[in-house]
Amino acid sequence: MQREEIRELLTATELDVLLSRADQVRRSCVGDVIHIRALLEFSNQCFRNCKYCGLNLGNENLKRYSMSYDDIITVAKTAFEVGYKTIVLQSGESHDFDICILRDIVREISSWGMIVTLSCGELRDSEYALLKSSGASKYLLKHECANADMYAHLHDGYLLEDRLKSARVIKGLGYEYGGGFLVGLPDEVIELVIDNLLLIQKLACDMVGVGTFIAHPDTILKGEKSGDYELTLRCIAIVRLMLPYSNIPATTSLSILGDSDRIFSAGANVVMVKVTPQAERECYEIYPSNAHTTDIEKDRVNMQFKINKLGRQSS
Ligand code: SAH
Repeated sequence: MQREEIRELLTATELDVLLSRADQVRRSCVGDVIHIRALLEFSNQCFRNCKYCGLNLGNENLKRYSMSYDDIITVAKTAFEVGYKTIVLQSGESHDFDICILRDIVREISSWGMIVTLSCGELRDSEYALLKSSGASKYLLKHECANADMYAHLHDGYLLEDRLKSARVIKGLGYEYGGGFLVGLPDEVIELVIDNLLLIQKLACDMVGVGTFIAHPDTILKGEKSGDYELTLRCIAIVRLMLPYSNIPATTSLSILGDSDRIFSAGANVVMVKVTPQAERECYEIYPSNAHTTDIEKDRVNMQFKINKLGRQSS
């Protein structure tokens, strides 16, 4: 897809027309199934200072935790037993969490036949390789923002080119690669949204998460207005048209802002349900959300019910 076509779809095409085109492509390319993934936020330790993220190093209001090997395995086992086929292990970036422990966790979980997706930020090339050879099959690492200057500003000096280098390494190792970006970051202009979409296309992502920025009170961006719900829906629909066979999650940040059912008729075919234990969940606030009590099995059944009500099947 070219820049001008994307611009047209973002700014001129009627929303319902765009969404129904995306929905048709979704149906014919990936079918009616919505894949439910378990999301375990196993550590909120982070040495980075991403300006939008509640886990940033400067946030001293946050109680830091890392779950133990045993606790992670127990949660994963329960999730597997109640029907989850994939677990997403997500964390901040920290050298405090031993990569060898993560390797052992990946090895154990994948030995049951459960698919392990990692979302642990930027690692060393050798670490991506180690985790891949231990059984992890997918890696989520969004580029977040395609403008290099804005990226460096938002990520406190870290560089977009390094993020993209990581993406290339991840793909080269044979992981399914999950990219994505944030809609509605302060100072966003429409050209940036187009650049984000073009970059997703160029990276040929296997999975694409388009999130909506929500200001966190313990970040420098507190008080900034949230990203636009409709613009995010448009981005999701365009991603479905660009990469018809990709897996596209209905990101939680978007469903906090508006009708979550609508996301599934905009091209999305994946949803993540948190399985993080309550105490840790309360300390994993990337953006403000309701950290309500967990019952791994009930939450899954509720999600299946919701999916069936939409006339779709769950997996
Ligand atoms: N440390 C990992 C995981 C990050 S958290 C990494 O760097 O990849 C997962 C996602 O949360 C991020 O990719 C980002 O897009 C999203 N996120 C962070 N802060 C947010 C905010 N304030 N609003 C919406 N999404 C946010």
